[in-house]
Amino acid sequence: MKRRALIAGNWKMHTTVMDACHLAAEIARQCSDVEDRDVLLAPPFTVLSEVSHVIRDSAVIVGAQNVCWEEKGAFTGEISPVMIQDAGGSAAIVGHSERRQIFHEDDALINKRLQGSLKFGLLTILCAGETLQEREGGRTFNTIEGQIRSALAGVEASRMAQVVIAYEPVWAIGTGKTASTEQAQEVHAFIRKLIEAMYEKTIAEQVRILYGGSVKQDNVDALMAQQDIDGALVGGAALNAESFGRIIHFR
Ligand code: PEP
Repeated sequence: MKRRALIAGNWKMHTTVMDACHLAAEIARQCSDVEDRDVLLAPPFTVLSEVSHVIRDSAVIVGAQNVCWEEKGAFTGEISPVMIQDAGGSAAIVGHSERRQIFHEDDALINKRLQGSLKFGLLTILCAGETLQEREGGRTFNTIEGQIRSALAGVEASRMAQVVIAYEPVWAIGTGKTASTEQAQEVHAFIRKLIEAMYEKTIAEQVRILYGGSVKQDNVDALMAQQDIDGALVGGAALNAESFGRIIHFR
């Protein structure tokens, strides 16, 4: 089963309006020859609108780094799916480990965010990953299974075409340590089997599973050569147009 690759850049809490416009313009230029893969940028909320404008004539998709489940209301500090769409976005990330760890977002909250994001039609990247302690304690698969089952609770099969899963081992995020291709493939295959058990084989074969955790220009090709790795969620290297351009052009 051939799945369309997706390379997503998570800009985290970086870029002013001017930085973001320059970076987005350069990435859009780098993508002009890209046809067989999707490219997504997730800038901070404050520059979503400008980035959407800059990439409007390219194939780049824009998304948010988090999303609320309600359309509007008394949710101070939150951004709704409709606001993301209004700013030109069509996607959102949920359950990033920085949200889980620094802001204590739990599985129930992530499930609400994911459901809201899907309800309003956003392409939704669900992140899951184990800490070093969990890996060393032999709890990698349990952790991943728990996170994915909770996040997808109540999500109907018909919505799964909007879902992308990102396996992001916490110990590899922003640390320069990448999971080996074997470690990553092993977890990706496990996630695909899990989706098959929760839904059905065709859905498992279609769902895109990204790897995230210190993806760089020199390790992307080997990662992308793995059977169950369908793309990358890139943090640090997504802030440099040249390195992100090379990642987009993985071979
Ligand atoms: C991320 O933020 O999702 C990420 C994978 O970051 P980095 O590529 O910097 O490890």
